[in-house]
Amino acid sequence: MPKRMIQSVKHYLKRFRRWSFRRLVSAYAVPGSVSKAPALVLAPHPDDEVFGCGGLIALKRDLGLPVTVVFLTHGEASHRACCQTDPKRIGAWRRQQALASLAVLGVAEDSIHWLACQDGQIPQAGDPTFLETESQLAKLLQHHPGEIYTPHPLDGWPDHKAATELTRAALQKVDGVFDLYYYPVWMWYLFPFSQFSLIPQQKVFAVDVASGLDRKREAMDGYLSSLVQPCGVPGCGRLPEGFLDPFQQSREFFFRPS
Ligand SMILES: [Zn+2]
Ligand SMILES: [Zn+2]
Repeated sequence: MPKRMIQSVKHYLKRFRRWSFRRLVSAYAVPGSVSKAPALVLAPHPDDEVFGCGGLIALKRDLGLPVTVVFLTHGEASHRACCQTDPKRIGAWRRQQALASLAVLGVAEDSIHWLACQDGQIPQAGDPTFLETESQLAKLLQHHPGEIYTPHPLDGWPDHKAATELTRAALQKVDGVFDLYYYPVWMWYLFPFSQFSLIPQQKVFAVDVASGLDRKREAMDGYLSSLVQPCGVPGCGRLPEGFLDPFQQSREFFFRPS
């Protein structure tokens, strides 16, 4: 078989696998609703909060509920393998865009916090800066009891896995009532289908966010439409084909730890 044809078959198989994964998660999910609890969303990079929770954030704000967003990094490494544009410039751009995108969803600047981890190097347990970051996060959590949204532990991207680990560790250090939810971002794209049996071990909620979908799309477009020169790639980096598909849907999925 010609090489191009083999690549094409592989491409469609991967697309089918990702589509099937979404269908299966959808089949397991039970309807969820937007509760009256305040929420804190932890995002490894500026854009994760919108991709994973943008609709939920908009709906919470519609109800007048406080939503706090904590970014672990400025996302400054998104063009490292692309055009070598100064990471400080990329980080400053993504930070500004986060404020603009979150304003669309109704979150004001004073509800947004930044922890100064390095993009690509969010500390994992045992790393020298893990305890310090854990303590900074614990202080923020202490002031924001309610629902906590953090990336799914099977998100597959090292910074995202580290973010989940930090959230769990920080929650051990604080008093108060917290409801932890995991949101998928890279999991939709990277999840190994062979591990699907892990999914039913967690409760999955599908929240209808249709009434906030236009604002979510506008917030996403902000991240995606402003292009860095000279490469012409969005500031948040080159995202693979099909990556955005799950975030265009009128339902967002949240997992409860087992
Ligand atoms: Zn990310
Ligand atoms: Zn670039």
